[in-house]
Amino acid sequence: MADRNSFHFQGTEIAPGTGVEVSLELGDGPAGNSRDIPVYIIHGTKPGPVLALTAGIHGDELNGVSVIHHLIHGDDHIAGTDDDRIPRDELAGTIICVPVVNIEGMLLEQRGAPDNRDINRLFPGKKRGNQSQRIAHVLFQSVVKRADFLIDLHSAPHSRTNLPHIRANFDREECMELARAFGTHIILHSSGPKGSLRRTATKEGTPTILLEAGTAHRFEMEAVHSGIEGVLNVMGHLGMIERRNRLPAVRLLVRRSKWARAEAGGLLYSLFNVGDHVKKGQEIALVTDPLGEQTHSIESPRTGVIVGLALNPLVRAGDPVANIVLCSANKWKQAQSEFNADDPEEESVDDEEAVDDS
Ligand SMILES: [Zn+2]
Repeated sequence: MADRNSFHFQGTEIAPGTGVEVSLELGDGPAGNSRDIPVYIIHGTKPGPVLALTAGIHGDELNGVSVIHHLIHGDDHIAGTDDDRIPRDELAGTIICVPVVNIEGMLLEQRGAPDNRDINRLFPGKKRGNQSQRIAHVLFQSVVKRADFLIDLHSAPHSRTNLPHIRANFDREECMELARAFGTHIILHSSGPKGSLRRTATKEGTPTILLEAGTAHRFEMEAVHSGIEGVLNVMGHLGMIERRNRLPAVRLLVRRSKWARAEAGGLLYSLFNVGDHVKKGQEIALVTDPLGEQTHSIESPRTGVIVGLALNPLVRAGDPVANIVLCSANKWKQAQSEFNADDPEEESVDDEEAVDDS
């Protein structure tokens, strides 16, 4: 152990077998207060890869923030949870944790940075750019470039919720390996929008996957646990910890999926939840007038699983109501019934009617 080198980050030395708080400086704020992004680094006693975990790039997406809290502090942090704490003395490699990238966005309870820009469209950022480009730049240079792999943790915006699923570029084998190891039932193909962290990082040599779990402005323990499990699964896969990975019996690799849309405006009552299976033609939501009288019914345009759902009851014609991934009832039942499979059955799903409309 003694011959393992320390990890150096922004002038701080992190000895093997320790976890240390550091920060990324962003320069002063309007009140002269120093602004920085808090970072926690766990440096293992054994050699291994550098894994970066980022959350809160969208300041109102909090489930991923809690995922990282659990991995740093484990079950001492919140009663009744599994022992998630990453063991410092047994870890092979290094973990760079950035629980809240967009720290001012979080304080403002908003998705964007204080200048309202979406940081996740500005990577790799600019050293002398606007304030959001500088945040992207600092994160990219100091964290992403030092990482061998990256997992970026998100949730749906506040008006929607997502069944926990991984988004990855199906055309990059190194990303797919991480996506499969993470262990969600559903993996959606997406290389990410231009300027997004995952697209830019992957292109620059740090294979990146993205978790979408739950909704914004909340700590939802089911979504948080799917994130913890997934990160630990990836760490097990990369040989960073000893772990028997828990994988689903069936996973769906989804090239394209389709949103069911409201054909008329009104107040929306969803009859199902994410993770539910629905049949083509089945009534999945009701639309009412302001007095609660039903005016319309929304039927599922396909047989499959709901992976995304509108939470805002106010809808106008054309608004997305439910994102449905093609899947037979039997297949989904099988996927739900077994876990701990060593070699999940894989099904490719490509909804040819779908356009890129998410
Ligand atoms: Zn997000």
